[in-house]
Amino acid sequence: MMLSGWGRFPRQSCAVSDPRDIDELAQVLQAGSAIARGNGRSYGDSALNPVNTIDMRRFGRMVSFDPMTGQIVAEAGVLLADIIDTFLPRGWFPSVTPGTRFVTVGGMIASDVHGKNHHLHGAFGAFLDWIEVMAPDGRITRCSRTEKPELFHWTVGGMGLTGPIVCAAFRLRRVETGWIRQTNLPTRNLEETLAAFETHHSSTYSVAWIDCLTGGDTLGRSLISLGEHAAASDLAWDKRKQPFDTPAKRLLSMPVSAPAFVLNRHTVRAFNDIYYRRGAARPVEELSDWKSFFYPLDSILNWNRLYGRRGFIQFQCVLPPAASAAGLAALLERITHSGLGSFLAVLKRLGDAGTGISFPMPGYTLALDFPVSPGALDLLTELDRIALDHEGRFYLAKDSRMTPSTLRRSDKRAEDFRAMRQAMGLSSAFTSSQSERLLL
Ligand SMILES: Cc1cc2nc3c(=O)[nH]c(=O)nc-3n(C[C@H](O)[C@H](O)[C@H](O)COP(=O)(O)OP(=O)(O)OC[C@H]3O[C@@H](n4cnc5c(N)ncnc54)[C@H](O)[C@@H]3O)c2cc1C
Repeated sequence: MMLSGWGRFPRQSCAVSDPRDIDELAQVLQAGSAIARGNGRSYGDSALNPVNTIDMRRFGRMVSFDPMTGQIVAEAGVLLADIIDTFLPRGWFPSVTPGTRFVTVGGMIASDVHGKNHHLHGAFGAFLDWIEVMAPDGRITRCSRTEKPELFHWTVGGMGLTGPIVCAAFRLRRVETGWIRQTNLPTRNLEETLAAFETHHSSTYSVAWIDCLTGGDTLGRSLISLGEHAAASDLAWDKRKQPFDTPAKRLLSMPVSAPAFVLNRHTVRAFNDIYYRRGAARPVEELSDWKSFFYPLDSILNWNRLYGRRGFIQFQCVLPPAASAAGLAALLERITHSGLGSFLAVLKRLGDAGTGISFPMPGYTLALDFPVSPGALDLLTELDRIALDHEGRFYLAKDSRMTPSTLRRSDKRAEDFRAMRQAMGLSSAFTSSQSERLLL
């Protein structure tokens, strides 16, 4: 079938199987070099393999839960959305969540996803107790920080290239309500934006929407959102009895791909202007329900169609703290100058680095979407160069077009990863279109 990541670029014809259990999965691996696929929310070609793509979503059981520690054991195809629906009413929430809940457990581990609390708590891998991974011969190996630590180290963030994850144990966090105490801070330029992140470093959650189409004095103006899980005592009396009841959201849907002219520099600039002004006028403190705070985009099904039939590409890099101010300014200036609009531009502060070739490292991460066009592809090559000049590195879960040399210049661990795969006999057993493109 024709398959793509969330960006709908590239699209490839892939042979897809959907094994039901361990035996069927072991059999599928005999059909040739394979890659596991979760819910297809990575943007590019990391979950595509033209000859053997394995849809893991039938590994969909939640196996056990320990209310003393918050540890859940779940198969790899379980959706984060289902975990939240099951456990939030009992007072538990994911310790780390990406900006969509329509991802699988396997996909979150393979990308070692980060959330708005990375600067304090680390990535998904920090809350993992163990993982079970299938080897090319069908054997299952359980690994953790103490048991087969090398396999654990490279599987977390390893983009499926150490074999299919079948099951995992990880910890949820206790919460008293389904509400977030949100603080809204508009900033007038990049300097104020970075200063606000540093001032509010102890906030559990922080994220900024950044206007990447203004220059000069307003370059880098942003809307920063900070958040804390609300206690029951933060709620109005009428809400305290049912602290996990939050308003049902009407799901909107993009029924068809938008025509290419919908997103151009004029519409995006106008959108950004209105969005910034409306955001700046919001109250400084408010209570937000968990869906609005963590997953604003999930309320529009198929929003990826907004970018038209050709799809879109995302650029996401992280720059170390010392290079962030100059690097972000250079990136934003280049984007403003190009006139290519991105209205989904997000800035976050990241904390300690994780395992293997996991993406996060201390510094600032900037993520931007662009509709696919020759101009956008050229622009991203230039953004790569600017990020490299500022010692940045790139997020594989968002990549669809990087070159092997850019990857190697940005991340010395890529060669170690490749060597490990060769030494463990994994390079011919597990490949994706991305791993072939990047020579991993
Ligand atoms: C709207 C949106 C917001 C996002 N926000 C964030 C964010 O804030 N932070 C962040 O870190 N990421 C973010 N992402 C990226 C997303 O969280 C990751 O790409 C995640 O890996 C997708 O999970 P999936 O189940 O859809 O995996 P897929 O996209 O299907 O696969 C992604 C990778 O995981 C591997 N994989 C999947 N399942 C398995 C398995 N069972 N065993 C081994 N490997 C497997 C695949 O081979 C592939 O390499 C966002 C994506 C979207 C669309």
